[in-house]
Amino acid sequence: VEPLLRVTDLSVTYGVPRKGVGLGTGAALRGANLEVYPGEIVGIIGETGSGKTTLARATVGLTAPASGSIEFEGRDLTGLRGRELRNFRRQGRIQLVFQDPLRSLDPDLTVARLVAEPLEVAGGIDAATRAERADRALREVGLEPEVVRERRPRELSGGQRQRVSLARAIVTEPRLLICDEPVSALDVSNRNLVLNLLDRLRRDLGVAVVIIAHDLSSLAGIGDRVAVFYRSRLVEQGNLREVLTRPAHPYTALLVASAPSLGDESVLRPADIRVDRDDAGPVHSGGCVFADRCRFAVDACATRPALREVGERWSAACHLADRWRDDVIDNIRPVS
Ligand code: SF4
Repeated sequence: VEPLLRVTDLSVTYGVPRKGVGLGTGAALRGANLEVYPGEIVGIIGETGSGKTTLARATVGLTAPASGSIEFEGRDLTGLRGRELRNFRRQGRIQLVFQDPLRSLDPDLTVARLVAEPLEVAGGIDAATRAERADRALREVGLEPEVVRERRPRELSGGQRQRVSLARAIVTEPRLLICDEPVSALDVSNRNLVLNLLDRLRRDLGVAVVIIAHDLSSLAGIGDRVAVFYRSRLVEQGNLREVLTRPAHPYTALLVASAPSLGDESVLRPADIRVDRDDAGPVHSGGCVFADRCRFAVDACATRPALREVGERWSAACHLADRWRDDVIDNIRPVS
């Protein structure tokens, strides 16, 4: 099966004010690679500023990359400009769901208008069909159109608002949904509801879903694969269950150990793994991005580790990926 989305060596820079020099450039994302296959759920995990939201924005054409390519359904999106880019975005084949529906949904519009709006933007669909498809999208996300149609965002609960955002995203029948921190503002019950909903949407509609989150527990139970970012770089990607069980990058191990609730998905517990050093180590500008925190760092880590295969469709950017796992992870006794 060909990937639906293939991001290759993508870098995005942004302008930063520099004293006496004017505007310089900084990296928001450096050499990122990502593949998403039809109908799968991929988690992109990383702390704030690690480049994960930049990757999402570049993928939907909201941010122009400095280099690299984004192929979607076999078509290079990085070459699209002007009208071509606008047309692509209007079609809604890739939809972005924002973290905070209160900010992303127009407070003056009713739910019916909000959900039908992307079809209006796409053009060529009459009003009756738009209304019918908006109702169908609302039902898909578990809302009764008759009850919510005339309400405005502030008249809905947080969970309902997030579902309206999702209805708005799926109304164009996208192939790929990118959800930026979809559950971080929700309480536990709404959080499970929205995650289960995403899982059902990919099963019923065959849509691929990318979930951007800052901790692994946002994926517990539903992700197929995961990509972990640290300081604008991809440090590991692979099958979620395998990565949770036997992370190949020390930073991933740190995330696994500090995730509040991974249920049965990982055999690792916080006390099992120590990857952090007690003191800050030297920062090598051209070296491994995790070197100043990594307790396994050796001289070779002053050179940037390339992403390399550590298993089937599983790669990590660590010089010692195999060695530290053999020494540390494989010596952990299974939790009984
Ligand atoms: Fe640690 Fe070196 Fe691996 Fe970086 S390359 S994560 S510093 S062992």
